[in-house]
Amino acid sequence: MDHQANTQPAENATHVGRFAPSPTGRMHLGNIFTAVISWLSARKAGGKWILRIEDLDPQRSKMEYARLIEDDLLWLGLTWDEGGTGNKGPHGPYLQSMRGDIYASAMEKLKETGLTYPCLCTRADIMATQAPHQSDGRIIYQGTCRPSHMPSRPQDSLPPSRPHATRLYVPDEDIPFSDTIYGGCTTNLAKHCGDFVLQRADKAWAYQLAVVVDDAMMGITEVVRGNDLLLSTAQQLYLYRLLGLKAPAYAHLPLICNRQGQRLSKRDESASMHEIRKTHTPEQVLGHIAHLAGLIPDNTPCTLSGLIPLFSWDAIPHKTHITI
Ligand code: GLU
Repeated sequence: MDHQANTQPAENATHVGRFAPSPTGRMHLGNIFTAVISWLSARKAGGKWILRIEDLDPQRSKMEYARLIEDDLLWLGLTWDEGGTGNKGPHGPYLQSMRGDIYASAMEKLKETGLTYPCLCTRADIMATQAPHQSDGRIIYQGTCRPSHMPSRPQDSLPPSRPHATRLYVPDEDIPFSDTIYGGCTTNLAKHCGDFVLQRADKAWAYQLAVVVDDAMMGITEVVRGNDLLLSTAQQLYLYRLLGLKAPAYAHLPLICNRQGQRLSKRDESASMHEIRKTHTPEQVLGHIAHLAGLIPDNTPCTLSGLIPLFSWDAIPHKTHITI
């Protein structure tokens, strides 16, 4: 079988996809759904696929989970051309925990825009300023620590000596973008989240900064991820603009939910790769995913190489959730 031949990236690949899991637990069907769709899109385009480990959260990330994620991807045949715990490739390291210097130099550039400022607010301070009607749980920073001269040019002032986060001023402006699945979207950052954090008070880098810097430096042309991150896209596009970097295309996938309609989580043991691998073959899992993705009419076993020619963005259900 020419499985390998079908799945090799072209030498001069112009499509670069990626999978960027956080190694905080074993993958479940929802994570695999994202990985398979992103991989198929890259392979159909003759492109490359990068595995980046998003281990920014030192408390929750574990190397052991990163290795299990790799093992589960390989069990399904989802090979990557760059990245992983072996840091294979020219754009490494591919573990975010090892990329602090790169984020620090992006932060310097952002500071030069005059739009960043130190913030001493605690979570309790921020919660106390939230509007009571905000029932969706979103937190909108009200600008408590924002200097009054912002967004005009910066004024020289020393940052506080106490531990502080660094925030980025956001304009009260609509940021439009096009999503492969959702079509035209618009987010106003001032109304959606307010000035957001680039680096936490404990010096951990924020996801929004790291993901933009990494996707740009790794030459990613297509980001495929769950639609829980749809609203982060405008934050990321704003950072691309300030850093003068070229943004990728975005495709936000429906979230895979359990029978109770809740998004899959680590608690859904039966949907965890740990359980799935005990009772299913890779072909059965791929068939299930391909069926959920609308690529095949019935839930029947299939191979990755057989799915490449069937892949089409038009087939993916334009829904916010898919129940398994
Ligand atoms: N690390 C994120 C997660 O596992 C994904 C981020 C992204 O794809 O932009 O949910």
